[in-house]
Amino acid sequence: MTKLRYERPIITSLNGGVSNKFGTRSLHEPVSHIDGVSVKEIIAQYGSPVFILSERKIRQTYRDAKRAFTSRYPKVQFAWSYKTNYINAICNIFHQEGSWAEVVSIFEYKKAIANGVPGKNIIFNGPDKTEEDLRTAIENDSLIHIDHLDELYQIIELTGSLKKRPKVAIRVNMDTGIYPMWDRFGFNYENGQAWDAINKIILTDKMDLVGLHCHIGTFMLSPNAYAVAANKLSDLALGLKLHHKKNIEYIDLGGGFASKNTLKGSFLPGSDIIPGFDEYAEAICTTLLNAGFTKDDLPMLILESGRALIDEAGFLAGSVIANKRLSDGRRALVMDMGVNLLFTSFWYDHRISPVEASGHHTENAVIYGPLCMNIDVLRENVTLPPLKKGDQVVVHTVGAYNMTQWMQFISMRPNVVLIDPEGKTHVIRRKETVDDLNKMEEMPSHLKSFKI
Ligand SMILES: *Cc1c(COP(=O)(O)O)cnc(C)c1O
Repeated sequence: MTKLRYERPIITSLNGGVSNKFGTRSLHEPVSHIDGVSVKEIIAQYGSPVFILSERKIRQTYRDAKRAFTSRYPKVQFAWSYKTNYINAICNIFHQEGSWAEVVSIFEYKKAIANGVPGKNIIFNGPDKTEEDLRTAIENDSLIHIDHLDELYQIIELTGSLKKRPKVAIRVNMDTGIYPMWDRFGFNYENGQAWDAINKIILTDKMDLVGLHCHIGTFMLSPNAYAVAANKLSDLALGLKLHHKKNIEYIDLGGGFASKNTLKGSFLPGSDIIPGFDEYAEAICTTLLNAGFTKDDLPMLILESGRALIDEAGFLAGSVIANKRLSDGRRALVMDMGVNLLFTSFWYDHRISPVEASGHHTENAVIYGPLCMNIDVLRENVTLPPLKKGDQVVVHTVGAYNMTQWMQFISMRPNVVLIDPEGKTHVIRRKETVDDLNKMEEMPSHLKSFKI
């Protein structure tokens, strides 16, 4: 008998979607209706592709988040993160629910003002505020969150020519045990920069320090990171009381709660592993309540949650343009929507469902968008039943960051439709046309004509 050859043990990865020891995933079941409205009819009326938002889901999610915090802490205020989705109708749903506005540029600031948000209920974040932007924010009594010393000095300078005392907070960055640390925004806690900024504000006495802010990251899977952040901001607030006899009005813990999406490379779907609002709320509220504030000094808790409040309420419906076999035998589908509309497909494995049932024999496929660009891949590998040209699909959990980061590249941006709680549909952003683009262009007279 010959000796068998030694083979070293290997670990093989299991492909999500295909049969494995956990059984087959059934995420490819058809989704024919959203909030009781037929996707087919929406596409027939508004075209393909089309973004669809559920007002009912937005309000439900917001109320769930609000309940998680208000049942644990007496003073809670949400501020809608405009950059997550700044279509005005969406912002106004949040404002109707009681949200303030959180903006990171003067363009978003102007949108909030035009939507009717009072200046004092606008939080102005971000590193890029011009002198003119700061002047506007000060005149409107908005809450200016200072990002760096240059901004602080500029505000001090501005107070010389303005009658109002600016209301400011500082943005603090810190080690919360999550790496890489977001230390490019604001003043660091551990190395004393945050204290230095606080002392400069208090002792120059040109503005009112009303809050302390942080935004420790995004898609944070650890509620404990927020406990660490709440603890460090509380320490600064209590130090302010001790050394300067001043109370701050609020602690703003920013956004960053994970939405029910699946990060690329994650073995289990996001909906199974991400913490709920109750877990984040428990970590934050318990920390604040135990930090050592007296009842009268307890700061208001502000939350700037973005993706966790809107992602699940957004869908992108589109159609199959073509079926292909790639040279290596894999099935490929070309869709009429790509990374131009779904920027988030670079980091999420978005769930994709057929609109109609079309057979039980599923096959793994790569999903391409319509762009003439190799990077235009919506999913590298997804299990779907056979779909033919013209069949429709729904991409799930796309409400956050896509309708703000979408590109006008090769194709125009499509209609965005809102389904109201009664099941009526409304266009809240009409699709773009070539005229919209050409409106911004100018033709120098020597280039106006040509002969070919
Ligand atoms: C982007 C942003 C948010 C919202 O973040 P999410 O991760 O979507 O919750 C909140 N605050 C600030 C300062 C931001 O930049």
